[in-house]
Amino acid sequence: MIYVANWKMNGDKGLCESYKRHLMNVIVCPPYPLIHHFQNSALTVGAQNCSQYYKGSYTGEVSAEMLKDSGCSYVIVGHSERRAFETEAVVLEKARRVIEAGMTPIICSAELMDIDLDPKSYMIAYEPVWAIGTGKTPKPSEIFLMVNAFKMRTECETVLYGGSVNSKNADSLRDACDGFLIGGASLDVMEMQNIIR
Ligand code: PEP
Repeated sequence: MIYVANWKMNGDKGLCESYKRHLMNVIVCPPYPLIHHFQNSALTVGAQNCSQYYKGSYTGEVSAEMLKDSGCSYVIVGHSERRAFETEAVVLEKARRVIEAGMTPIICSAELMDIDLDPKSYMIAYEPVWAIGTGKTPKPSEIFLMVNAFKMRTECETVLYGGSVNSKNADSLRDACDGFLIGGASLDVMEMQNIIR
């Protein structure tokens, strides 16, 4: 089971220290300026986004290469909170930059999509928009159906579920997917421990 913690625009040095002290087997995705706190730690680090470009005059953007150099192994791309700014083509372009830099993209999508990449080179996170941050989740059987539909469509072997996962519903959702992308609940270390347990 894979656990990805998406801190979004939250967290601080204290939360980084707490993660390092109390958690294992989590892919932690803090905001860019906090990534360095995880250098030389046992935790795997991911970023929440990257540029579709290699380098250049793109003020405020961060390239996949830079994230790799900062110690990241994963990058979330296409999160629904960013989809307003980017098309599916841009999301796939970002995924390509991530793979070229030697990392694994976690491609978020609420809908089935075609992905013209080597299915072994990425993970998918099925995230119904209405379930993100709302406390509502689909039924486990519905998640199971979508996860398998993603697998059939793309041949990707690892499909996570994301949307209001917490310590109360984790057990019922666990068997429906290969892992969780956890937003709000990931800001509480004890809650994360309980989800993983
Ligand atoms: C997310 O940010 O991808 C997410 C699933 O958030 P939450 O767990 O808060 O619904």
